[in-house]
Amino acid sequence: MTGTLAIVGLGPGDEAMVTPQVRAALDAATDVIGYIPYVARVAPRPGLTLHPSDNRVERERAAHALDLAAQGRQVVVVSSGDPGVFAMAAAVFEVVEEGAPRWADVPVSVLPGITAMLAAAARAGAPLGHDFCAINLSDNLKPWAVIERRLRLAAEADFAMAFYNPRSRARPEGFARALAVLRECCGPARLVLFARAVSTPEEHLRIVTLAQAQPDMADMRTVVIVGSSQTRMIHRATGPVLYTPRSLDGAAA
Ligand code: SAH
Repeated sequence: MTGTLAIVGLGPGDEAMVTPQVRAALDAATDVIGYIPYVARVAPRPGLTLHPSDNRVERERAAHALDLAAQGRQVVVVSSGDPGVFAMAAAVFEVVEEGAPRWADVPVSVLPGITAMLAAAARAGAPLGHDFCAINLSDNLKPWAVIERRLRLAAEADFAMAFYNPRSRARPEGFARALAVLRECCGPARLVLFARAVSTPEEHLRIVTLAQAQPDMADMRTVVIVGSSQTRMIHRATGPVLYTPRSLDGAAA
């Protein structure tokens, strides 16, 4: 039997946001590989081996997955959200490119999922309704100077911005610095969404201004969306809605 490797996104948390395509790949899998909390989202069953691994071992995990597929297994690597957004798909291709010849014939597919910023944006309204960008605030894999430069240029270009990995115990200072840069570039009135654990029972959304934003409003389970100059909040009977109109009114052009 020919082995295969599928790198799939499990979405933000809610089972209903796992795509039917990803569900089918999981149902056909002999092996599921990934970070411990993501593998925990896959139900055990006869014929399926679960391989949970620790954080920050992405390359070893990718090589393990490729080896199993080369041996003829039906392997699924799981990521949260979308596997191509700050997740395992790029890690697998890094390892493939450096590549051992024994992996040359392994078919690799990437099955998309609903990424955190899209799930968060949908819960708040439509803050990404005009041009936007996504930035990973973790400085594990790039220097802080690069992050700060991208923040400044994105703010100058007046993008709405989605921030992944805003803050962790290992990096308590970075997000405070990011907020300081944003206040300098965008001013105190700019709207900010803190969306934690979207689509899970612990979901918590909060909309504040940059002047009110505090570093401890974010943690590892939070995606932060900073609006553009056009992003606004409207008040409906069901609560506030954050959205960015589709056209510029000229003020920011
Ligand atoms: N591949 C994932 C992102 C992995 S990076 C995706 O596409 O969503 C991990 C970061 O994603 C977290 O630090 C957080 O910023 C964000 N994140 C993942 N799931 C989330 C959720 N349910 N709610 C809010 N943010 C989430």
